[in-house]
Amino acid sequence: MSSENSSADDERRVWDVVVVGAGPAGASAAYAAAVAGRRVLVLEKAELPRYKTCGGGIIGPSRDTLPPGFELPFRDRVHAVTFSHNGRFTRTRRSRQMLFGLVNRPEFDQLLVEHAQKAGAELRTGVTVTRVEQHGSAVPDRRTVAVVLQGGETVLARAVVGADGSASRIGAHVGVKLDQVDLGLEWEIPVPETVAEDWQGRVLIDWGPMPGSYGWVFPKGDTLTVGVISARGEGASTKRYLEDFVGRLGLAGFEPSVSSGHLTRCRADDSPLSRGRVLVCGDAAGLLEPWTREGISFALRSGRLAGEWAVRIAEAHDAVDARKQALNYAFAVKAGLGVEMSVGKRMLAIFARRPGLFHAALTGFRPAWRAFKDITQGGTTLGELMRSHPMAQRALAAMDRRPAEAAEGEVTSP
Ligand SMILES: Cc1cc2nc3c(=O)[nH]c(=O)nc-3n(C[C@H](O)[C@H](O)[C@H](O)COP(=O)(O)OP(=O)(O)OC[C@H]3O[C@@H](n4cnc5c(N)ncnc54)[C@H](O)[C@@H]3O)c2cc1C
Repeated sequence: MSSENSSADDERRVWDVVVVGAGPAGASAAYAAAVAGRRVLVLEKAELPRYKTCGGGIIGPSRDTLPPGFELPFRDRVHAVTFSHNGRFTRTRRSRQMLFGLVNRPEFDQLLVEHAQKAGAELRTGVTVTRVEQHGSAVPDRRTVAVVLQGGETVLARAVVGADGSASRIGAHVGVKLDQVDLGLEWEIPVPETVAEDWQGRVLIDWGPMPGSYGWVFPKGDTLTVGVISARGEGASTKRYLEDFVGRLGLAGFEPSVSSGHLTRCRADDSPLSRGRVLVCGDAAGLLEPWTREGISFALRSGRLAGEWAVRIAEAHDAVDARKQALNYAFAVKAGLGVEMSVGKRMLAIFARRPGLFHAALTGFRPAWRAFKDITQGGTTLGELMRSHPMAQRALAAMDRRPAEAAEGEVTSP
């Protein structure tokens, strides 16, 4: 073989973009890079479809970021929300228009990956990425990243997108810094038809007993997804909250088909989103709404941006150009999702101190319910709401100034 042919072969073996992880962030990144005509490889450690601990709540911004022609596999459409405060002061709010939809994650994620494949991305499942190298003997030149798989195989790429979730190895390589880690516990509870009918079209949100915690019931036909989330480090109390919550709802008699837990993470404001030719997105980057811990729209939106900017990094001829494109990615993320996260952080801080006030506002104050509806339906985002409604800003500032609720008994009843 001539040396010209051999170097052409080497060139073909270098992918333009390698995406690590085939969740919503990875599938979204792979789709964006593949529709731009690039050679894209997705590496996923699980076999698909794989289970992911998640409520599967799809709000407007998630819907609006899906690839063209994607049909959401809704298991239910939510038109009513029952709010309670640690089991008390229960009140249901209804909406004629759908508030948000509910999916089973294995099904939803698989469809997203199939869309990326249809756009031209290749998928390898059952392969775990152990590390990436941007220098050293595994890297043939300065424009290439080596992605090392368990077992020692190395895959080469011009750009890498780390979308490997909340225990991200690529995030560790990039040096992602976190300032909030929570533990979510969830049960998938198959229920008889009469119970399922009672929940159809309605979710329950319960503001929990630990600061910043809450629980939910998300109906998916013959199964209810029941979960709670709270700051990591309170595992025993979080478990007790879930058990009490399930018991209170009269669901303790039904055997869960799945019982699982998963961490969610929020990045610190100054956390990096890239290193060299490697970008991170979704949970791997700590991109998540800190108050509700809504992460699917953050994964889809940051994934799309990461795919688009990875294409430009793949084309960069030197480290300076690659760095410029990586900084553009970080700028795009911070200008949109970063603003939403900073409002969410403030909301969480106030909610942790005054859950009763939040409960009273959502159940008894029409503009608060309207804002909730607008956000879930996709008419606005937390960031836009604060920018365009000075009253919302003033309300948040006023809540911020009020002292914490002294005792559970003093919680305001709507
Ligand atoms: C209890 C709970 C409930 C939630 N409910 C909601 C909700 O209702 N709505 C909402 O919007 N968000 C919710 N979230 C958040 C949401 O689940 C996440 O933000 C979202 O899944 C992030 O997507 P992702 O693609 O970044 O990561 P993931 O969905 O975690 O995907 C990461 C993928 O990477 C793969 N992977 C990991 N490591 C490697 C490796 N080394 N090599 C190769 N592959 C690897 C994994 O197998 C996985 O498939 C919830 C989270 C929790 C914990």
